[in-house]
Amino acid sequence: MSHKLYTIQEIQAIIHADGVINHPETSIRTLSIDSRKLTDMEHALFFALKGRRNSHDFITDIYESGIRSFVIYDKEFNVSAFPDANFLIVDDTLKALQLLAAYHRSLFTYPVIAITGSNGKTIVKEWLYQLLSPEFTVIRSPKSYNSQIGVPLSVWQMTDEHTLAIIETGISKAGEMEALEKIVKPTIGILTNIGEAHNEGFSSTEEKIEEKLKLFENCGLFIYSPFYLRGYTGTIPGRTQFTWCHHAKADLDVWGDEILENKYQFLRGEFKGGEVQCIIPFTDHASVENAICCWATMLAMDYNPEISDKRLEKLLPVRMRLEMKTGNNNCSVIDDSYSLDISSLTIALDFLRQQNQHVKRTLILSDIPESGVDPANLYEQVARLLENKDLDKLIGVGPMISSNSDLFKIESRFFDSTEDLLQHLNELPFFNETILLKGARAFGFEKISRALTQKVHETVLEINLNALENNLNFYKSLLNPGVKVMAMVKAFSYGSGSFEIANLLQFNKIDYLAVAFADEGVTLRKAGINLPIMVMNADELAFETIIQHKLEPEIYNFRVLENFIDILNQKNIEQYPVHIKIDTGMHRLGFMDNEVDALLDLIHNTDAIEVKSAFSHLVGSEDVSLDDFTDQQISSFATITDKIEKSLGYKFIRHIANTSGISRWKQAQFDMVRLGIGLYGIDNAYQERSPLESVAVLKTSVSQLKNLKAGESVGYNRKGVLSDDGTIATVKIGYADGYDRRLGNGVGQMSINGKIVPVIGNVCMDMCMLNVSGIDVKEGDEVIVFGKDIKIEKVAADIGTIAYELLTGISQRVKRVYFSE
Ligand SMILES: *Cc1c(COP(=O)(O)O)cnc(C)c1O
Repeated sequence: MSHKLYTIQEIQAIIHADGVINHPETSIRTLSIDSRKLTDMEHALFFALKGRRNSHDFITDIYESGIRSFVIYDKEFNVSAFPDANFLIVDDTLKALQLLAAYHRSLFTYPVIAITGSNGKTIVKEWLYQLLSPEFTVIRSPKSYNSQIGVPLSVWQMTDEHTLAIIETGISKAGEMEALEKIVKPTIGILTNIGEAHNEGFSSTEEKIEEKLKLFENCGLFIYSPFYLRGYTGTIPGRTQFTWCHHAKADLDVWGDEILENKYQFLRGEFKGGEVQCIIPFTDHASVENAICCWATMLAMDYNPEISDKRLEKLLPVRMRLEMKTGNNNCSVIDDSYSLDISSLTIALDFLRQQNQHVKRTLILSDIPESGVDPANLYEQVARLLENKDLDKLIGVGPMISSNSDLFKIESRFFDSTEDLLQHLNELPFFNETILLKGARAFGFEKISRALTQKVHETVLEINLNALENNLNFYKSLLNPGVKVMAMVKAFSYGSGSFEIANLLQFNKIDYLAVAFADEGVTLRKAGINLPIMVMNADELAFETIIQHKLEPEIYNFRVLENFIDILNQKNIEQYPVHIKIDTGMHRLGFMDNEVDALLDLIHNTDAIEVKSAFSHLVGSEDVSLDDFTDQQISSFATITDKIEKSLGYKFIRHIANTSGISRWKQAQFDMVRLGIGLYGIDNAYQERSPLESVAVLKTSVSQLKNLKAGESVGYNRKGVLSDDGTIATVKIGYADGYDRRLGNGVGQMSINGKIVPVIGNVCMDMCMLNVSGIDVKEGDEVIVFGKDIKIEKVAADIGTIAYELLTGISQRVKRVYFSE
């Protein structure tokens, strides 16, 4: 698929920029906004967007990676430091990106479908892609790129080889849709539904509807359900409309629905005075609504009802997430085999590159099903993409990629089919590497995934890496400019994993990591983490290891300091970075106020160490009743560190705030903050309406169901007794997994198929039982222990503890699965 090449002067004119053009022959086809995800350097234009991070700070790095064209907003920026680069200077770089996308969109006359609504946008987009692909060469928004930035990047992918665009748009507050309309200029509009999402950004539902409808102002055809516009009195957009509804007058009136074989929904409706029907391979309410929306769209686009029915019956589930699991032979397997096109491949490769635990990176890639595109062109683009992504090995699966094998310059092997690869799997010694699986659905890559990964004890802790990233960004947004972030990854990152989390943090350019013990630091070093790492419990036994792996000890008393200086002297090491712990009230580790003079004497008398930072810890930053004490801690910390700084004559990093210290104590930020549990989505400062996203979901499954009579008992010591006839489910989690025994006998609850059910009887070592009387449940069903419907804070409170203890208590036999959406 060849993208139009723009000259840099053309772009300058389109976005009305001032320019410093040192490289006039540059042509552009790729837009970049993230310094960590660069590709196609020769033809890329980098937009320095205003945001949480000052993107101008990264221009040197980006320049070094080979990019020569930039759009910037800082008029003071020293462009003369880059004598062979192009700089386009504008007031607002986001507006410039949008202008450029709008221009690009205007070059094409084929239909553009725009989708918006509160829920279901991505599913409807993916399903329409499945349904319309036989006739059209479709370009669609990658993943859920639907924001003020995502939409222009989606539209930018249009080329003249496509024949249809499907663009998803999302807004979170009033005033945003107008900008998106100008970029997308849809010819066909779809409103999926109107629900509660993002209500806080609007003064009323009416305002929200009005804002969303702005997208469709210039549409030829607008497809919607009047049900979602109840109470809306404004004008309905679109030159023509197509409506759908349940049991009401509409162009498509769906009046019959019946479930077949427990897994299909049979829908009947009235269309143009006759009866139409279709079968959908889903039965849950949301999927059925989304499928009807697609059905309406096909009918509105004049598809024959029989063809619509045939295609709808074959709809495939949309899985947008990518999972990382532990593989055999110390490999990590990233499984992203649910859809395959260039943009999802790019996203997955960026994820692969972000994970550094193994030096070697392998991609297993199937043929890419892009209809209507010249294959040579397509695989040339793939080869180019792979060149910039630090890949070591490619394994191609399928006839198309195999016949283009000479395009790939890295170590590679090719197989005709998945079966062919599986037969030769033992000849491919996967060892100590990260393997990305990227296969089109028809290739059944789940078979490869199964062959490469360990058998799982079915209780898993799922870690949502996007949520973790969002939480990090949330806390960054609370910081004064220049304040650094140390992430606390002690205790296996609060139970969530070690290098997987540290890699993500390193990728996000965090400043520091902290662990509890030297061993934890060594594990991170071995996994390729090169950030500075502070070790909190550093003592004589660990000093050798600490020095060998360039870890930085916390110095909390004279014994530790003197011992460490001795070892450094023996090794003739000078200026070794250390972190001085001050005790301002925790009374755990650290120098007391009255010890500081002696401490300073010691430091003045040696060249062995350099004070990298001085810090203290708040005892109750989240607790309103302790605010006076916290205030005292902060001011005594300021006084003591002022004194140290004056005496030493050089600056060091000062830090005292933990998670709630960041959210509640602006004056406690000093030079750095130490973010712990907040990363994992938990902060006691936010009781309701937390801005954080939950990161960890603990899941298990039902092993057996039993019907029991009233009065019969369940489990050890007959502690659980049914008061009525009922059903119990035995699930695969017990106290050896970290499910606390105090949660037995009705104290704890879990969720099955959206229903909350109590634990009955005592919790056993590897199992426990739930009372599922009257609930629709089958053996093998998934059970949420905490995370989604059951908040971990509540589970903790039920047994008088805190989320920290539950998270870190989940045993290592519970497999961690990481995913990214
Ligand atoms: C664990 C820890 C933190 C992080 O605390 P959270 O409440 O999880 O943010 C910060 N500083 C020190 C010294 C710690 O031990």
